[in-house]
Amino acid sequence: MRSQKKINIAIDGHSSTGKSTVAKALAKKLGYIYIDTGAMYRAVTLYALEKKYIGKNFFDKQKLISDLDQLEISFEYNPETQKSETFLNGQNVEKKIRSMEISQYVSQIAEIPEVRRKLVKLQQEIARKKGVVMDGRDIGSVVMPDAELKIFMTASPEIRARRRHKELLEKGQAVSYDDVLQNIIERDQIDSSRKDSPLFRVPDAKLLDNSNLQPDEQLHLILNWVEEKLK
Ligand code: C5P
Repeated sequence: MRSQKKINIAIDGHSSTGKSTVAKALAKKLGYIYIDTGAMYRAVTLYALEKKYIGKNFFDKQKLISDLDQLEISFEYNPETQKSETFLNGQNVEKKIRSMEISQYVSQIAEIPEVRRKLVKLQQEIARKKGVVMDGRDIGSVVMPDAELKIFMTASPEIRARRRHKELLEKGQAVSYDDVLQNIIERDQIDSSRKDSPLFRVPDAKLLDNSNLQPDEQLHLILNWVEEKLK
């Protein structure tokens, strides 16, 4: 479905609802750019962990905030994997940012207003050109409030944990189902209750509960919504 007219598509929702999988497929189908904003928060988290600004029972927010100007986050398309990969200060961090350790700390990093301001600015610059599919937690509310299509994705925590656990095991990460479920519940809680840009469904977002949907059914449904907007 290629059209002359280009729109922006905002996909928000709970953790591990498969936002990035569907966003990627959608971008490919439409010839749009896909931006994974969670990867940006994960990259900042990796930086904070490597610098030992954050860890079990400690977090030196001020040190992270003063380093923010030195942080450069970008995406590069890898023709071999046919995927866009995340770079932090010139280093490919795509694999590192997907670990459970990063997932454990990322929501604390994402609560910091200075971090959000920096990343939102970058995301809005990219969105200006239109033809963007962006997924995250505050895309329809803060980053692209004027996006033509907004989607809010959710599914039961147990179903999400089961999918995510399987995915991590396939990637060779030895984690328990209970830990994954707990992390998902914890991240939902922090993301939805934080002061700055909490996760919520904006009134004009279409609700997509994919607990009982197959990936192809889901894509089909979204493509129908896109078609409506392109008319
Ligand atoms: O999407 P993903 O699960 O990779 O995002 C990781 C974390 O980054 C989320 O749990 C949330 O805390 C944060 N995030 C955010 N705003 C976004 C995208 C992600 O706060 N737009």
